[in-house]
Amino acid sequence: MELEWIFRSLVDNTNDVIMVMDATPLDDGGPRIVYVNPAFERLMGYSAEEVIGQNPKILQGEGTDDKTRYKIRQAMRQHKGIRTEILNYDKQGNELWLDINLVPLYDEHGKLAYYAAIERDLTDHKRKQSRLEDMATTDSLTGLLNRQAFMQRADKEYVRTKKYSRPLSAVMIDVDHFKSINDQYGHSVGDEVLRAMSKICQLSLRGSDVLGRIGGEEFVLLLPDTPEASAIYVAERMREHLVMTPIDIDGMKLKITASFGVATMRENDINFTSLLERADVAMYDAKHGGRNQVKSAA
Ligand code: GH3
Ligand code: MG
Ligand code: MG
Repeated sequence: MELEWIFRSLVDNTNDVIMVMDATPLDDGGPRIVYVNPAFERLMGYSAEEVIGQNPKILQGEGTDDKTRYKIRQAMRQHKGIRTEILNYDKQGNELWLDINLVPLYDEHGKLAYYAAIERDLTDHKRKQSRLEDMATTDSLTGLLNRQAFMQRADKEYVRTKKYSRPLSAVMIDVDHFKSINDQYGHSVGDEVLRAMSKICQLSLRGSDVLGRIGGEEFVLLLPDTPEASAIYVAERMREHLVMTPIDIDGMKLKITASFGVATMRENDINFTSLLERADVAMYDAKHGGRNQVKSAA
């Protein structure tokens, strides 16, 4: 019949993946794949013969979200359709993000006969999206968190530490006489110095510490679970690292120092900003005290 031929051609020619599973017992290894279209074979790298009779679980892997798996299984148990995004893997083990639209197919007696999955490849889209997210949160010069992303992270950490009555410290860092580096060597050398400096500062950090660039030559260090004395110690070690590591630019060895202001969360703080303001005041104290030093908030 003409219409059947049309439907067959559509399924054979579409770029969307179509996979049909029988609706018989979900447990005992089911459901089983009974049909896949050519787009499935192209995208997944499996031939129809290789997957027919198999559980679609073979397409999942360690990155596949358990919640999504559960959601799909629940929908199938309840004979319902579902549309979601899922991470699958092709035959070579490459990640494939799919938009999956799972629809129950009923026979003429109204009995559930099959499940059909109509899937679209979202991998490129997801990759672009994550690149955009990275661009929105990182400072392009140093690769550190930018101001907005740092503040978001710090606000979250503030709420967490307040809830569990943990100590939280922050260190404000401002490069000393940075203007004279720009004036003497030019802006691009200045940029190189900032890049090198952020690397040096990262050397003294633990996994949970977060360094952000919140202004031109201003950095902030967030120290979760860290009381004041330890925060001063960390800042002091970072200051010494900077002093001991002249920055090599085209054979020139530039000595860079910075001023550090340490502040620790107090009972009456209402947000992270109040802590940061104290760190800023302490940092200016360090500037007035002669620079290249660590001061803590009064
Ligand atoms: P102080 O010890 O008092 O901090 O002196 P300073 O010269 O570092 O302080 P000031 O805030 O007066 O100047 C900071 C300078 O940093 C101004 C600006 O030219 C420079 N700067 C800010 N952002 C950038 C940047 O992204 N790249 C470069 N190369 N320079 C920057
Ligand atoms: Mg400054
Ligand atoms: Mg400065």
